[in-house]
Amino acid sequence: MATCDMCGNEYAHTFTITKDDGAKGTFDSFECAVHAMAPRCAHCGCTVLGHGVEIDDKTYCCSHCARVTTGARITDSVGV
Ligand SMILES: [Zn+2]
Ligand SMILES: [Zn+2]
Repeated sequence: MATCDMCGNEYAHTFTITKDDGAKGTFDSFECAVHAMAPRCAHCGCTVLGHGVEIDDKTYCCSHCARVTTGARITDSVGV
């Protein structure tokens, strides 16, 4: 039995996540893990669950948010 760092639930099937900077967390659900550890978009604040876009150590949810914040010339798709 371990306790979820986010909600405090004691649960038999917790799991632990270790990030590359050494930060660790024990959680009873992915919901709690996401709430506690997922990056937030530096422009709109939404949770970044996919790869996102990283510019100058900041994470954005999509190229739009990265573009309007940094001026980077990136796009989600390349058309004709
Ligand atoms: Zn929890
Ligand atoms: Zn965003």
